[in-house]
Amino acid sequence: MAARHRRAAYMARGAAIDTAPTIEEALGGSQVRHYIRPQAPWPTDVPIQALDVSSTPEVDLVIAGAGPSGLAIGARVAEAGYKVAIVDPEPLGIWPNNYGVWVDEFQAMGLEDCLEVIWPKAKVWLDNNQGENLGEKFLARPYGRVDRPKLKRKLLERCVAAGVRFLTDKVDKVEHAGGRSTVAMVSGKAVRGALVLDATGHSRRLVKYDQKFDPGYQGAYGIICEVEGHPFDIDTMLFMDWRDDHLPEGSDVKARNAKLPTFLYAMPFSKNKVFLEETSLVARPAVEFADLKERLELRMKWLGIKVTKVEEEEYCLIPMGGVLPTHPQRVLGVGGTAGMVHPATGFMVSRMLGVAPTIADAIIDQLARPADSAATAGTPHGPQTEAQADAMAAAVWRTAWPVERLRQRAFFCFGMDVLLRLNLAETRQFFAAFFSLSAFHWHGFLSARLGFLQLIGGFLLL
Ligand SMILES: Cc1cc2nc3c(=O)[nH]c(=O)nc-3n(C[C@H](O)[C@H](O)[C@H](O)COP(=O)(O)OP(=O)(O)OC[C@H]3O[C@@H](n4cnc5c(N)ncnc54)[C@H](O)[C@@H]3O)c2cc1C
Repeated sequence: MAARHRRAAYMARGAAIDTAPTIEEALGGSQVRHYIRPQAPWPTDVPIQALDVSSTPEVDLVIAGAGPSGLAIGARVAEAGYKVAIVDPEPLGIWPNNYGVWVDEFQAMGLEDCLEVIWPKAKVWLDNNQGENLGEKFLARPYGRVDRPKLKRKLLERCVAAGVRFLTDKVDKVEHAGGRSTVAMVSGKAVRGALVLDATGHSRRLVKYDQKFDPGYQGAYGIICEVEGHPFDIDTMLFMDWRDDHLPEGSDVKARNAKLPTFLYAMPFSKNKVFLEETSLVARPAVEFADLKERLELRMKWLGIKVTKVEEEEYCLIPMGGVLPTHPQRVLGVGGTAGMVHPATGFMVSRMLGVAPTIADAIIDQLARPADSAATAGTPHGPQTEAQADAMAAAVWRTAWPVERLRQRAFFCFGMDVLLRLNLAETRQFFAAFFSLSAFHWHGFLSARLGFLQLIGGFLLL
């Protein structure tokens, strides 16, 4: 549909807001404008090339997982001229997670064309009984919904153009000998690599831990649905709604929520379509999905939302904080496998796509070293010994987790521990103060951009 007609159709459905017809227009000028377009189709037509392990039993880098992390790193390492194999049970499958990001994060990476909805502002509801600084707070920071199919197509096409090969399989285990890692798959096939990267997200298939992995959990139950109507402004993303008026006085659920609060996260797409998610920011153990579902249903009833069709259901369980995998270790990690989820927010996709080029470049650097010496010593390409392969992996881990990032993470984990202890009243007070910090501090905290000393400085203000 031409942009003009799409906009006309959208306005005809009753959206009385200024919706830009193109993403360039939405992001151009001094004010970001509301923008919406239909999600792109899933890229099932991208001509990925299979790896034939009988003719090519060895590559430079084996990547387990074709999520955003695996594809982003695979594309960049292959673009530098190295042989990369990516293993995933469904390389052309859908990415189930519904990603929301701050628009400036995607703009900084040149990925703004992978946003399908932009809300010029976001909002936090703390309490209906307004009180001091409680009530509704508007956040002047545009928020976007990621067009997952478009992002996946972009990364897959880069992989294909750079010669990445794919294995439709599941990684089972890895063994190391003679400076090489052999990755065994559940089908019985195996592929050898100079380096191996675990990008299996929160399933953390290959990385090892030397302490018990005991994270907090962000739990959420959400639906993308068509509705008869809803009370949200279409140009405003509802980042958090901590109101509890929907819970009957004296009920068990009200008492549970007062002790272990959950909030509503809502993305209004149009007057008749919305994504609603009841979210537990962090809890240990996780809040049960049945409990989240009950709270969401009560909230929808109170808000007068009648669902006519459920398009997608999301059951979200994100491990937050907890110990990092052993590092260094021979298997490399990125994203969920390397503990990169923000321990106090559960967000990761921007941080992970932001760090992917750095990790890829560290891998390229290490793969290039033996080749450099090969030119003079006449030795074959790749690490020659276990010690050499271990040293290569250690150098990449140091890039993934430099000291400053470790300190920052320790601070975020401290933040998570504080959040774990707050009841509803304390949570409201906390976010009233948090969103009153300067934009530099709260943007930087949520986007993991602040250094350790800046974090300390910001939080002395809280
Ligand atoms: C429901 C949900 C909602 C989320 N929403 C947000 C959000 O709004 N914003 C945000 O920033 N973050 C969000 N997150 C966090 C999210 O996990 C990451 O941002 C992002 O998906 C991480 O990408 P990844 O590539 O590291 O892992 P994943 O996206 O999890 O990809 C892992 C890949 O590995 C494959 N795999 C798994 N096991 C194996 C195996 N044994 N062998 C081979 N392949 C395997 C899987 O098939 C998958 O393709 C959400 C997470 C969940 C679960």
